[in-house]
Amino acid sequence: MIFDLVKQSLKSPRVLIPVEELLGNAQGSRMPEVKPALLTITIAERIVAACPTAALALEKTETGSFLTLDYGDCIGCGRCHASGDGAVVRAQRLLCCGVGRSALVKRWDLRNGKEVLAEEEKLASTAGKIRALLGRALNIRQVDSGSCNGCEAEITALSNPYYDLERFGIHFVASPRHADMLLVTGPVTRNMAEAVKQTYAATPSPKLVVAVGACGTGGGIFCGSHAIVGGVDSVIPVDGYIPGCPPTPAMLLTGILHVLRADRIFRRHAPSAGPEIVSKR
Ligand code: SF4
Ligand code: SF4
Repeated sequence: MIFDLVKQSLKSPRVLIPVEELLGNAQGSRMPEVKPALLTITIAERIVAACPTAALALEKTETGSFLTLDYGDCIGCGRCHASGDGAVVRAQRLLCCGVGRSALVKRWDLRNGKEVLAEEEKLASTAGKIRALLGRALNIRQVDSGSCNGCEAEITALSNPYYDLERFGIHFVASPRHADMLLVTGPVTRNMAEAVKQTYAATPSPKLVVAVGACGTGGGIFCGSHAIVGGVDSVIPVDGYIPGCPPTPAMLLTGILHVLRADRIFRRHAPSAGPEIVSKR
């Protein structure tokens, strides 16, 4: 029977998800996408009231009203989609994966329904050094600093034949001493804080750190617990954040490549992404 399965598998066409379908793909993440043209003050007030993590905020100033969405605090609960009257939908694409913390915050002017944009994000010099040393090859050490394992389940999927992370020259390694990047999940618990610091110290320079999920970004749903210290950046420096609870494998891959500044891949496969635009706070 096993031989029948092997024969059948060899006859099947190879199916590998194309990179252009992966980059920026947020399907299944339940992350929100705001349709600013449909936003009104009433809808903004309603979705802000519905948000359990204060990821959404409404700011009324003398110059106007602004809606802010912090993807780093969003847990993808979907309440804003349900109460947004079409002004908030499930995101199909999300390009702010693997970006700096401030780039996770989007802001819209409710008077004209337009996003408030700021300068292009600067490229990190560490990523440049790693790229110069290794081309596109990258060794990742995954560190669980106290997660619920939801993020790990998605990270594990990166190595399956469907997402096939290794086709990009990216591998998971067992020791921080062999790593170029630490992929850190979970809110940092008090018990794990020292271990995270030691893991960072054991990783040779140049090195990159990516905080994964709402927990890694700022503590997520565990924020305020006596048992946690906070997000990953409360104990070690972070180069990029990947939002979501949990982020999908496609979002993880987008974030890892973005942090590595694998620009050639982005330009070739996601030209619409363009330069990363960050919102002014
Ligand atoms: S999906 Fe995110 S932004 Fe929307 S209500 Fe839930 S936590 Fe808030
Ligand atoms: S971000 Fe969500 S899935 Fe990931 S560790 Fe935190 S609670 Fe779990």
